[in-house]
Amino acid sequence: MKIDLSQILNEPESFAETVELSAELLDPGRVAGPISVRLEGTVRPLGDHFLVGGRATATGRLSCGRCLEPVDWSMDTTFDFEAVLAAATPLDPEIALDEADLDLVVLEAPELDVTELAVEQVELELPIRVVCSEDCAGLCPRCGGNRNTDGACRCEPETDPRWESLRDLAGGSPVD
Ligand SMILES: [Zn+2]
Ligand SMILES: [Zn+2]
Repeated sequence: MKIDLSQILNEPESFAETVELSAELLDPGRVAGPISVRLEGTVRPLGDHFLVGGRATATGRLSCGRCLEPVDWSMDTTFDFEAVLAAATPLDPEIALDEADLDLVVLEAPELDVTELAVEQVELELPIRVVCSEDCAGLCPRCGGNRNTDGACRCEPETDPRWESLRDLAGGSPVD
């Protein structure tokens, strides 16, 4: 989904779009399903620049970092940046510096890719790791069963080798 900037000459133009981003497009390791992103904002022409600002809200489900079960997630953030056409920008080091310093986006074509903007906003807000609950027991390292679910893992509790050696000491023949 793209906004044609060549039509925005004098007056600011508002946009409101909803984009559905797949887990594969974001990060299938962390994202459990499609994330629906709502972008509402304004593009203001300013000479050969465009000021873009607005709000990004999203809802979706992420995967628990321990048991991989889906966890509801939402975000509500704002964005603000300046866009300039590559053609309007002579290649000089000053601009490169500007781009690093400010939120300046250099566009190859006079269009704003809303999907790309949505991906960027979600990636900025996506937590490194979520857990379904602080006491999530995670997956069994031996059978892969979800230890939060009764009966999903029937492995014997692992014996700690430190206790084994204590037991050996206790059961050993008495020293005279
Ligand atoms: Zn969990
Ligand atoms: Zn198990």
